[in-house]
Amino acid sequence: MNRIKTIETVSQVGENVLVKGWVNVRRNMGKITFLDLRDRFGILQVVAVPAELDQASQEILTDIRPEFVLSIEGTVQARGVKQINNDIKTGTVELLAHKISILSTAETPPFEIDNEERQANEELRLKYRYLDLRHERMKNNIIARDRMIMFLREWLHKNDFIEIQTPILSKSTPEGARDYLVPSRLHPGKFFALPQAPQQYKQLLMVAGMEKYFQIAPCFRDEDARADRSPGEFYQLDMEMSFVSQEDILSLVEKMFTEMVETLFPDKKITQKPWPRINHDEAVKKYGSDKPDLRKDKNDPNELAFTWVLNFPLFAKQTVEDRFHGAGDVWGPSHNMFTAPQEKDIPLLDSDPGKVQSYQHDLALNGFEVGGGAVRIHDMKIQEKVWDLIGFSDEQKKQFKHYSEAFKYGVPPHGGIAPGIDRLLMVLLGEKNLKEVTAFPLTSDGRDPMMESPSSVSQEQLDELHLSIKKK
Ligand code: ASP
Repeated sequence: MNRIKTIETVSQVGENVLVKGWVNVRRNMGKITFLDLRDRFGILQVVAVPAELDQASQEILTDIRPEFVLSIEGTVQARGVKQINNDIKTGTVELLAHKISILSTAETPPFEIDNEERQANEELRLKYRYLDLRHERMKNNIIARDRMIMFLREWLHKNDFIEIQTPILSKSTPEGARDYLVPSRLHPGKFFALPQAPQQYKQLLMVAGMEKYFQIAPCFRDEDARADRSPGEFYQLDMEMSFVSQEDILSLVEKMFTEMVETLFPDKKITQKPWPRINHDEAVKKYGSDKPDLRKDKNDPNELAFTWVLNFPLFAKQTVEDRFHGAGDVWGPSHNMFTAPQEKDIPLLDSDPGKVQSYQHDLALNGFEVGGGAVRIHDMKIQEKVWDLIGFSDEQKKQFKHYSEAFKYGVPPHGGIAPGIDRLLMVLLGEKNLKEVTAFPLTSDGRDPMMESPSSVSQEQLDELHLSIKKK
């Protein structure tokens, strides 16, 4: 007999079926034992009475504990009207068991699986993440993530985009965060950097003539965690398009996310359509934030207030900590160094760079920044000017030799954006922390208690990589 999903029993009343899954709850009622069997698709009530079970099944029945993995053959029967349970999808039926086999036993889990309250602390939940993911809410979040990525992939393909993977072993990219470095064994003393974003690659793909690129891109930034910022890695829906204006980028993203919300999250209401647009300086003046929360009712869990923030200054004063400079109080890029100035302001690059407005666009949702991007500079003369204004040395310019070189060979006007998958999902699902929408996140202090990473490595590995660890 082929295994069916618990949810399929609903249409199989009177049939003999085989189901497999985990014991969610076991209840003993005198001679009758009830087992709630859980698979990814739902929970099914199984009734075990000795008279209906074969000999072997009768003998193992008392051994069965929560989280055991079972295979159960039985007859699907309709529940009496009073027994119908509208809380579960299989609530109109139950399975009368004839044969039960134990596929795997289980120890008592370190926290309750059938209990929806989040009682376990973060450390315990992440150490036993594979058990934490058995919680209904967590499972649904991971499934929602899959549905969202699937929707976006299909939508973008229908709109002429192609998905292209860019390297993970890459070079330091100037997104403004600290890099994760990977030592090279073959090239002693040299390092790869994990990409903070595929920014240069996607622009070079435009030079290559790919025209419309996207990627569900892992991005790595060595930053301290906050509820809405993961330490380590996160995923962006990275996009880039050629021959587009800022307006084209905004309307494409608006259409894509509106359709996604309407299809996948029909209970949600978008506050204002088309999405409001607000100037950066106005946002800061009026709301004290460059990611204003424009919800009408902040207590409504279904309200989604998407807002475009536009007309950012091209430059912002950088502090001493800024990694591109030795000294403070110099101009740095407000978004990134490839962002185009607005044409009307190009003369100001020479006279008053602080007044130059750019083609940066940020997407805010309910007070979170869920995406940022820009129309890019596609004229090397302007790029050079920007590099000079942010105080790039010849040495620093040399690090972008490949980029300036590429720009000699016919560059289409282009631009893009990179909405954050994790952050968007967090807001859509009403979760308070990115960890609730990521299968295997790091702890707030950047560790994985399950894999126990980061971890020490052997002396041989260090030797091979030409590395030595400094004693404290
Ligand atoms: N690479 C940028 C970022 O990670 C996004 C973009 O400009 O497309 O913020």
